[in-house]
Amino acid sequence: MTYGAILFDLFDTLVRFDRSRLPEVQINGRTVRSTAGHLFPILAPYAPGVDLARFFEALIWSWQEAERMRAVDHHEVAAPERFRLLFCHLGLDPTRISSEVVQALLNTHKHYLSQAAEFPPPHRAVLSTLSRRYRLGIVSNFDYAPTAHGILDREGVAGLFQAVVISAEVGWRKPNPIIFEAALRHLSVAPREALFIGDRPDIDVLGAKGVGMDVAWLNPDGEPVPPGIPAPEYEVKALTEIGPLLASGEPGL
Ligand SMILES: [Mg+2]
Repeated sequence: MTYGAILFDLFDTLVRFDRSRLPEVQINGRTVRSTAGHLFPILAPYAPGVDLARFFEALIWSWQEAERMRAVDHHEVAAPERFRLLFCHLGLDPTRISSEVVQALLNTHKHYLSQAAEFPPPHRAVLSTLSRRYRLGIVSNFDYAPTAHGILDREGVAGLFQAVVISAEVGWRKPNPIIFEAALRHLSVAPREALFIGDRPDIDVLGAKGVGMDVAWLNPDGEPVPPGIPAPEYEVKALTEIGPLLASGEPGL
């Protein structure tokens, strides 16, 4: 199969998220990795009676609640809405928190999450090589698009992609077909002309196969395909295998 476009998942495919790079904060005598220590001072003046430990608990709760809501129908709960949930959980009236404060929280969260996102140097070469033959795209489940775009800009690879589609901008998350179809539209390719590469069977493999794309599953540990997930056309242990695989034109399975 000769493809016209190669599409990638972002986190844990192109970029690794390294929790150990998140800032440390002391919560009830325990050291945890979280953005909470930097977010709390921004909200504290507007949250009398809320201490750091309670803020940390609410931050974790808001993430879990957003994840629960996302799982219902794959509708994205974007970061501003997640912070609104957090304010309500703390008993605060969201309409009394100014947009400047919300933006400061979003910017700070973005700053520290971006620091924890690592772009492995070999991936730059993979993208650079592929970009000479294929249109490239990204389809990412992420709740704040500026973070994802900022990481690509920082690493100097944003210009290699003709489409970067983030769930926070589309409103729908993988495996919903809408987000894949948006990317294919931007790339002006039909599903059968595109290869999708991602690490999650239940999100990337299921979703991309669902819209009729071929899929290369990034499966570094050689896990079996989970029950109920259609078999991907290819399996690779590392992104660096993609170039040779496409050059050989042979299935990896
Ligand atoms: Mg991923």
